[in-house]
Amino acid sequence: MNSFFLTKNNQLHAEAVPMSDIAAQFDTPCYVYSRAALTDGFLQFTQALQGRDHLICFAVKSNSNLAILNVFARLGAGFDIVSGGELQRVLAAGGDAGKVVFSGVGKTEAEMRLALDAGILCFNVESAAELVRLNDVAADMGKIAPISLRVNPDVDAKTHPYISTGLKQNKFGVAYTEAVALYRQAASLPNLHITGMDCHIGSQLTEISPFIAAIEKILVLVDELAAEGITLEHLDLGGGLGICYSDETPPAIADYIAAILGALQGRTQKIILEPGRVLVGNAGVLLTRVEYVKPGEEKHFAIVDAAMNDLMRPALYDAYHYITAVEQEAHPTQIYEIVGPICETGDFIGHARELAIAPQSLLAVHSAGAYGMSMSSNYNTRPRAAEVMVDGETVQLVREREMVSQLWAGERIMVV
Ligand SMILES: *Cc1c(COP(=O)(O)O)cnc(C)c1O
Repeated sequence: MNSFFLTKNNQLHAEAVPMSDIAAQFDTPCYVYSRAALTDGFLQFTQALQGRDHLICFAVKSNSNLAILNVFARLGAGFDIVSGGELQRVLAAGGDAGKVVFSGVGKTEAEMRLALDAGILCFNVESAAELVRLNDVAADMGKIAPISLRVNPDVDAKTHPYISTGLKQNKFGVAYTEAVALYRQAASLPNLHITGMDCHIGSQLTEISPFIAAIEKILVLVDELAAEGITLEHLDLGGGLGICYSDETPPAIADYIAAILGALQGRTQKIILEPGRVLVGNAGVLLTRVEYVKPGEEKHFAIVDAAMNDLMRPALYDAYHYITAVEQEAHPTQIYEIVGPICETGDFIGHARELAIAPQSLLAVHSAGAYGMSMSSNYNTRPRAAEVMVDGETVQLVREREMVSQLWAGERIMVV
């Protein structure tokens, strides 16, 4: 689906490496990432923002493999985290705590302590109760917590309801109408320091207009606060830019940034963005092998060795992933249901795909770099897939395939 995963000599490659070589070396199912694709996406952001004070905080939850975080850290990225675990990953990957923003509606006291100890850039606070708790925790530690309020601008992101976050009825952020009063409250709490305002309205947005609508709404609040003497150092506009899975036409990164900069004309605050999917989604492919072909009365099934535990998006959101045969082989073309071995009817990777395949054929499930491995599970006691990163002609294992014994390592049998 992009220039980093191309078919050459009848075979899909990741950069310069044939996918069948990767399957032979690392087995399947296996997530395959392109370092060049990661770098290219990140540089598109920094180039479009050149000359403007900014920080790109990669949304760790979209793909939290240490190698991926490290590639972005080396490029100067910050990180958007949603748990203490993600903070520890960022630090383990060589990320800079001073470039971390912490989002999420349910930060625990322990997570706040961890983040204050590490010295993160900003807490994106999502409720009045969280403001009070954070102030108490910071006071107890003798620290000042830098904060933004995540404002819910009540705009329709026009995306899947499960990944829409900026409507009044969603659990995220503080209500638009209460934001100014909460900023006043924050200003009165001695162990908080107001540094910015934040909003994130959803994921897989394929139009620019909801982003701009959200910016226009939060700028009204920024001006109201300024009139009261509460000035902000940064504006965090969240993530959410969509990618092409099939026939979507999301805006290019450069056009999205140009529109944002247009909406922010005359503003001097530092711009923070929290892209996840757009940086990793099309930088990864899930490589899987056909185990069985099962002709049915109504449908033909291709049963593959990847399943909903490896890639949950089809089962969870009815998401579409483009699926291709890695090699062009002389098999009859059929319309297949591409399904995994898990005991759930929801365990499918793709419906009604026309493919020329047979048992042992390799398939590439495209656009699997975001919310693929990071949402994986061990359902059906299936070890998690291996992950590899391609860099030109080289391939490196960046996560070993799990062993079954690891899956029950923490379990105990009753003593009597
Ligand atoms: C998930 C999330 C993101 C990233 O969203 P993408 O659609 O992957 O860009 C950014 N910010 C917050 C607060 C999030 O929860």
